[in-house]
Amino acid sequence: MLLATASFVTNADEPQYALDRAAMVAQVEEYARFTGDHTGDQTFDKRVLKSMASVQRHEFVPEAQKHFAYQNRPLPIGFGQTISQPYIVALMTNLIEPDRDDVVLEVGTGSGYQAAILSPLVKSVYSIEIIKPLAKQAAARLQRLGFENVTTRLGDGYYGWAEHAPFDAIVVTAAASHVPPSLVRQLRRGGRMVIPVGGRFLTQQLLLVEKSETGEVKTRQIIPVRFVPLTGTH
Ligand code: SAM
Repeated sequence: MLLATASFVTNADEPQYALDRAAMVAQVEEYARFTGDHTGDQTFDKRVLKSMASVQRHEFVPEAQKHFAYQNRPLPIGFGQTISQPYIVALMTNLIEPDRDDVVLEVGTGSGYQAAILSPLVKSVYSIEIIKPLAKQAAARLQRLGFENVTTRLGDGYYGWAEHAPFDAIVVTAAASHVPPSLVRQLRRGGRMVIPVGGRFLTQQLLLVEKSETGEVKTRQIIPVRFVPLTGTH
């Protein structure tokens, strides 16, 4: 006799996912309190938490990972890449201080989850992914789930997306060896960028880069993080 061993999600799983998601958000809030001395914020903006509580993270992970979708940790999404830890997604979103009228650039679409979290908080999100199958999957997923203000493309995000610049905020979700000058140029005056900077596969520092109204650029270290590297030919 054949036993059905495949794990698949049905509508019957939704109430459990909702409970798991609420527990995940509670843990994100707890981490925010723990790390508040370093990040400068003991609590995250209510709008950011609301978005974390509504986006279905289980839709953004491969079938085999769905049961871990609401654990506060990164998960593999294929091609050696990961969907970031929920706390880190919330922290990066909080650090850019998203506003309804903002135009945001994300470098490293991956699963599309970070873009989905940003979507209800800002006017539009432009997101670039360098790995073709991931870019394709994320574009289809974001469209299917109705994140209409997110536009994606395949490419090297090191150079930004000049046609849509300047950006009110930039979120880089892969670790760079330095802050890409093109991204600094494409950041609007008064804008904010979050980016992990440091060695490949080592611990990096999450940096907050702020451009003042006079164009002066200031950088602050937030916390140590661990991201997959920013690849490309730069
Ligand atoms: N934001 C993603 C999410 O919510 O699932 C997680 C991103 S994962 C940690 C980093 C992503 O950056 C990977 O998908 C990787 O392929 C992509 N990436 C790496 N270098 C890149 C580059 N130069 N331009 C665009 N994407 C890049």
